[in-house]
Amino acid sequence: MDIVRRVHSMKETSRQVRAKGRRIGLVPTMGALHEGHLSLIRRMKEMADFVVVSVFVNPSQFGPGEDFEAYPRDLPRDADLCASLAVDVLFAPEEGDLYAEGACTWVEVEGLSSRLEGASRPGHFRGVATIVLKLLNAVQPHVAAFGQKDAQQAILLQRMARDLLLDVEIVVLPIVRGEDGVALSSRNVRLSAEERRAAAAIPRALRAAEAAIETGEREPAKVIEAARAVLEAESLLRVDYVDLVDTETLQPAASMEGERLLSVAVFAGRTRLIDNTVITV
Ligand code: AMP
Repeated sequence: MDIVRRVHSMKETSRQVRAKGRRIGLVPTMGALHEGHLSLIRRMKEMADFVVVSVFVNPSQFGPGEDFEAYPRDLPRDADLCASLAVDVLFAPEEGDLYAEGACTWVEVEGLSSRLEGASRPGHFRGVATIVLKLLNAVQPHVAAFGQKDAQQAILLQRMARDLLLDVEIVVLPIVRGEDGVALSSRNVRLSAEERRAAAAIPRALRAAEAAIETGEREPAKVIEAARAVLEAESLLRVDYVDLVDTETLQPAASMEGERLLSVAVFAGRTRLIDNTVITV
């Protein structure tokens, strides 16, 4: 496995791989890899002939007071994991290559970026869309994989690819969970044992909403309430939001007809956790 640190060498590698007619797949990550990331990589090995995993903790998607500095980083471990999965290139670019001095161009996916996570984290998706476009330009993949764990991100990036006529297929892959049902996240390492136990209320809250629907509930506010009640019963969690939206527009669901995204964000101590489920009645 090659570790590539410069954008110009990544572009040259991709040019040569493409010239051989091989299909390039990209899995963008912020590192501190866990089984969720590895599931994306394994699936990508089936979809592409040449797999690139990028590791870059993108400063522009963190707001002031968020955890950019404290975000877990362990490139040697990430490299070992990628090598063990026969990844072709670990692309770990230098910040100065991705944000050259004076860079002033940003991608804004209007509307979608101001809902849910975007409402709680202003500017977050401007950072996400911009860095993903830069990574796509550096790697030139035929296909790129993202996790359903970050459902809004996946929806927004698919829209960006469509709106900007990008020549890449965006695939969205299922959430990987721990034995307690908690969605795997690089931030989970920062949870204390009590916080981790409390976090198990998050998947339980999603299941409670699904159970309400199974027993006939059709009022969006009541479905939200079923999830919120489970979260609020857990004193170590502080609810940021529980929202039920249309999966295409991310606008609040007026009914349960059509595909719905139930999305939650909570704080366990200082750690912010998100999770979601897609509901089709
Ligand atoms: P991150 O490193 O957190 O930016 O995540 C990189 C990619 O992995 C994103 O597309 C995430 O949605 C995806 N991902 C993160 N956690 C999980 C998980 N538990 N299951 C599946 N995909 C995940």
